[in-house]
Amino acid sequence: MVAADSPKSSIVRCPSCEGFGWFVDDFGGESADCDWCVGLGYVYRHDGRDSAIPKADFETVAEELEALEHERLRELGYQGAAKKPWQQQIRTNTQLGRNPYNDGDSV
Ligand SMILES: [Zn+2]
Repeated sequence: MVAADSPKSSIVRCPSCEGFGWFVDDFGGESADCDWCVGLGYVYRHDGRDSAIPKADFETVAEELEALEHERLRELGYQGAAKKPWQQQIRTNTQLGRNPYNDGDSV
């Protein structure tokens, strides 16, 4: 679909939910998918405009998303040594404590 010489859309972290893909209500603890990126956490950026990545593209961009997600988790401190025990406990019930991209692997 994309011609070889056309400028490629880049994938960026969703500016609305910062890559989480959803929001958690700090008071009620309820979560809701981010409208901006339809819960993906990342959007296309093309000519300075952001648009949601369509489901049809998921397979194509899966690898890039995974790389971006690894980068994001590193920034968040998923590095073992950088994470303090009390921080882990505090995060247990937050979005940081349950990482949906980490299929059961211990962090
Ligand atoms: Zn979002």
